Amino acid sequence: MNYLSTRGHPDRKRFCEILLEGLAPDGGLYLPETYPQIDAATLAKWRKLPYAELAFEILSLYIDDIPSADLKAICAKTYTAEVFGTDEIVPLRELEDGVYLEALSNGPTLAFKDMAMQLLGNLFEYELARRGAELNILGATSGDTGSAAEYAMRGKKGVRVFMTSPDGRMSPFQQAQMFSLQDANIHNIAITGVFDDCQDIVKAVSNDLAFKRKYRIGTVNSINWARLLAQVVYYFAGYFQATASNDQPVSFTVPSGNFGNVCAGHVARMMGLPIQTLVVATNENDVLDEFFRTGVYRVRAAVDTHETSSPSMDISKASNFERFVFDLVGRDAARLRQLFVDDLGLQGAFDLSADPAFKQAAGRFGFRSGRSTHADRLAMIRDTEKRFATLIDPHTADGLKAAREQLTPGVPMVVLETALPIKFAATVVEALGEEPARPKKFEGIEALPKRVVQLPADAEAVKAYIAEHCD
Ligand SMILES: *Cc1c(COP(=O)(O)O)cnc(C)c1O
Repeated sequence: MNYLSTRGHPDRKRFCEILLEGLAPDGGLYLPETYPQIDAATLAKWRKLPYAELAFEILSLYIDDIPSADLKAICAKTYTAEVFGTDEIVPLRELEDGVYLEALSNGPTLAFKDMAMQLLGNLFEYELARRGAELNILGATSGDTGSAAEYAMRGKKGVRVFMTSPDGRMSPFQQAQMFSLQDANIHNIAITGVFDDCQDIVKAVSNDLAFKRKYRIGTVNSINWARLLAQVVYYFAGYFQATASNDQPVSFTVPSGNFGNVCAGHVARMMGLPIQTLVVATNENDVLDEFFRTGVYRVRAAVDTHETSSPSMDISKASNFERFVFDLVGRDAARLRQLFVDDLGLQGAFDLSADPAFKQAAGRFGFRSGRSTHADRLAMIRDTEKRFATLIDPHTADGLKAAREQLTPGVPMVVLETALPIKFAATVVEALGEEPARPKKFEGIEALPKRVVQLPADAEAVKAYIAEHCD
């Protein structure tokens, strides 16, 4: 399998080449040249597989430069009941007739990002050892990515992590999770600004090719193809649990920010998994909902990015969205560049409302969307607790609200549970008046010593810090 850039760069790359890279050299995102097609016989075979073997089968369609036995071992080592809490890895729970929660948040940091990041940690260690190389991971997080990356990379040979986060904007639990890590290869950098400032810094540093090469900068942000690929697996696993046979369509609702999670659903659907609808759920930061309703994609300025009670979805532009739009415009790289480079560059927006491609978003590609507010989240958390004795986090609540608006009789609706309530305790307390249960291993972490530096929202300052801390 070869990978291309959404912006039309002529080079083609293989999996392990893009594994350690962020953006393509032309600023585009990597995608496979084609989506492998899954026939009915294969789907029937996969239905019976344990998660790690299913992951191996799917990954091996996209990865042909790691020997099979090694890839199989990496999957087996990653997706274990010890790390993810159950043999199913992503167990499905029915709330009411045909509405399910898929538990993706029982990994080390209690958010779905562990699903991909744990695999990435093992892939990085494998590939770096094979090359005899080192890598400095530069990341941006509004909370969940950073901790997932740090827990996946801590103590791994050949890897350092430099993780930027918006100063003071993560929940106390998230801050404690990250900043309490004392591993020498983990560096926390609190940036004076919002998440998008952090993301811009990562982009700026990655665009400085000389610096990037000299300091072997890599990324684990959601634009990383390997992460997206790892997430494709749980759409299959969720599908198999929600259905008795492979002719039954299923819909998924995905609490969305950078469009990474739901883009993996898009890939699963393009491979032939019978997904009827992919519902993109947003909070008050509704740039994606606006697009799917109107055809206008209008990125917000940092000052117009609301600080909400589902903070991991507080984005003003969705870094993976370009992947979907590339497919939407028929993989026309020139058109894609016009939208993402010219239109976004000049006007901060593009408008597909009059374009036949926009109709395909709902039609051919099955996308719908929904938006919720703080009051909706509180109501959804209360209702789910009251009627189903089930505690959900605010992001999953955004999902459940959007899902309820898109139900089709006879089509199971699977809502992806993207975090556990303890990560966002303040909102759960506001909704229910009581603290969510805390897993034993996280008791008292807020009181642990913190390892973090404060830097201004300035790529040069971050570069200087990295240079200083690379041996
Ligand atoms: C990262 C995250 C999201 C958003 O996922 P994207 O892949 O960025 O769309 C939603 N909920 C939680 C809890 C997250 O950590």
